[in-house]
Amino acid sequence: MKPKSHLFYQTRSRRPVLAEARGVYMWDVDGKRYLDGSSGAMVSNIGHSNPRVLEAMRRQMEKSTFGYRLHFETEPGERLAAKVAALSPEGMEKVFFVSGGSEAVESAIKLARQYAVTVGQGSRWKVISRNPSYHGSTLGALALTGYAPLADPFLPMMQAMPKIPAPRAYLDGLDMDDQATGAHYAAMLEARIIEEGPETVLAFIQEPVGGASTGALVPPAGYMQAVREICDRHGVLLIHDEVMSGGGRTGKFMAAEHWGVDPDIIAISKGFGAGYAPLGAMIAHDRLIDPVLDAGGFQHGHTYAGNPLACAAGLAVLEEIESGELMGNAARIGALLKARLANLMQRYGFIGDVRGEGLLLAFELVADRQTMQPLPKELNAYVELVELAYEQGLIIYSRRTRGGIDGDHFLVCPPMIVTEGQVDEIIDMLSAALDKFAVRAGFAVAT
Ligand code: PMP
Repeated sequence: MKPKSHLFYQTRSRRPVLAEARGVYMWDVDGKRYLDGSSGAMVSNIGHSNPRVLEAMRRQMEKSTFGYRLHFETEPGERLAAKVAALSPEGMEKVFFVSGGSEAVESAIKLARQYAVTVGQGSRWKVISRNPSYHGSTLGALALTGYAPLADPFLPMMQAMPKIPAPRAYLDGLDMDDQATGAHYAAMLEARIIEEGPETVLAFIQEPVGGASTGALVPPAGYMQAVREICDRHGVLLIHDEVMSGGGRTGKFMAAEHWGVDPDIIAISKGFGAGYAPLGAMIAHDRLIDPVLDAGGFQHGHTYAGNPLACAAGLAVLEEIESGELMGNAARIGALLKARLANLMQRYGFIGDVRGEGLLLAFELVADRQTMQPLPKELNAYVELVELAYEQGLIIYSRRTRGGIDGDHFLVCPPMIVTEGQVDEIIDMLSAALDKFAVRAGFAVAT
């Protein structure tokens, strides 16, 4: 019996107690080893207990751990901002630090709004987002989050924002090629802007490669470029929520680089602090920030923003990514892992899809691969399979969301330091879990 806990998160369920973590592995206090196949919640991008980061934090701690931003600039803050600006699209020279993803998204929409007010476009306030999507849990970011069970209880307390479908042709039963699919879903954005009244629409926000909400959804051909054009045509700002997809996991620092599309504002977090410190950032084009600063300043901020310890950690994380060529590894091993996951479709007829970019990968379980009908809810697959994998010593991350329709998808996103041998381990443990799940659910597996 575990002692009573005074902690609480979402539910009453208890988890093993973490003892230590190194590289891609984690151990609980009973000595059981887990391969961190989801980098926590797609956070621990460079693995656990990285010596360079620990040393950088130790050195910074001995100098100072906090300097309030209205009293001091800090050296790690300046250096990290310069590095992030260099990794961001041209013209995005200024970085606003925060402590997490929701704060980064809140900062993005508030900067967008303040910019609009400053340049005499105060009628613009609506932020269009996609369904499904996840942009955070604070009320502003939640209003953008396209997942009803999370958002609905709080609707009276926040401003409902317009939603358009995320481009998932398989759900809408569309039989079009990738290019036509991209055009079809992008056109929905334009139609919605026109319906709302372009003069009322402030911004459109999207995850370039989907995260927990869509299960690593990769946009169809032409979609990203078309979205950019539509936003420009209607004076709507484009915000990329790269909280999960940014930081190098897809093989590029910003996932949108895969499509050569520059947004106006970017939110990053998760892999940016990589689990070493609560860290996030909002990066925006100078053309938005300068008028706001010239007009008196950005009316927004969080106490812990840019604290030197978090920035020192973030800086060392970026140095590690560069010196270890971890983005290249994410692309190379990601392709291998994706192919290995796709191979599993031969044995398990209930894997409907394998998708993603780099090491932001997911698979979806379905009742019928042809129609992509979801599994019956009663199977509780998104919980059961994760638990079976956990028994094997593999951590994966799951959700049961498909916009209006339920469906079970699983993110397989190990740290960017993962090796080929560890990919074998992941596939072996996952196969063992899928075998057990098949027996439990009464599905045949091919031999
Ligand atoms: N945006 C995206 C795309 C995310 O994946 C998340 C976290 N899952 C957030 C925003 C919110 O980040 P946080 O939990 O750090 O507030």
